[in-house]
Amino acid sequence: MLKFIGIGNLANEELLNTSAYIKQENKLFIIDCGVMSFKRMLELNLFEDVDTAYIAITHMHPDHIGGLASLISYLNLEKNIIPKIVVPSEDEEQKQDIINFLFLQGVTQDIYELVNDVDLILNETLLKINFRSVKHSQNLKSYAIEMTFDNGKIYYLGDNNDEKYHKSLAKKLGVNDLIYTDCCDEINELHINLEKLAEIYDEKLRKQIYCMHFNGDETVSKAKNLGFSVAVKEQSKEEYLKRIMSH
Ligand SMILES: [Zn+2]
Ligand SMILES: [Zn+2]
Repeated sequence: MLKFIGIGNLANEELLNTSAYIKQENKLFIIDCGVMSFKRMLELNLFEDVDTAYIAITHMHPDHIGGLASLISYLNLEKNIIPKIVVPSEDEEQKQDIINFLFLQGVTQDIYELVNDVDLILNETLLKINFRSVKHSQNLKSYAIEMTFDNGKIYYLGDNNDEKYHKSLAKKLGVNDLIYTDCCDEINELHINLEKLAEIYDEKLRKQIYCMHFNGDETVSKAKNLGFSVAVKEQSKEEYLKRIMSH
């Protein structure tokens, strides 16, 4: 359901910062826009035919929000779009932090709109969004984004090390539901460990869990070996053609 602009962590130039989107006809919904993400969005021609853009941000680490000012300015200047930034309805502070963060980069409130957890109608599919606070960094709030469709739910964890939240998901996960989560394969305070995820999610659930935010290919292999699904980075048309030609 989700497509990926990047699937890497803070500094992986190959995998790029983790950022996802849903595009349905002329509507675009983006989750996170890191330092490396905006340029990649242009390479993927993501904005072609788009007239409405929603952007939800999980938290304010640079690999998740560093490209937001560029993205908003571009949509405004080049596409004549006022993007809607989706923010948690009960977190006035987070809202103000985003406003200030953008203001310091010359992006004022007349070229974007702030909306609370909203009901988005992406053509036929109803997409309702809720933010849930999750454990990540001591210095920064991080949110899981819960998306409700007419036939199931997607839980998206940008960055987390929140066993409790994962355990609650493992208990209630429906057959059509999917989870997207960052992960790591070492001891790390900020990200949930793959072994820990394997402890929480029974083998039969693991295909519904998509790992992302990798520090490298070894972690991708480890996630696959444990039976998890992995997010796959989208290819641009040029990259796709090049791959076909080389076969
Ligand atoms: Zn983070
Ligand atoms: Zn991150």
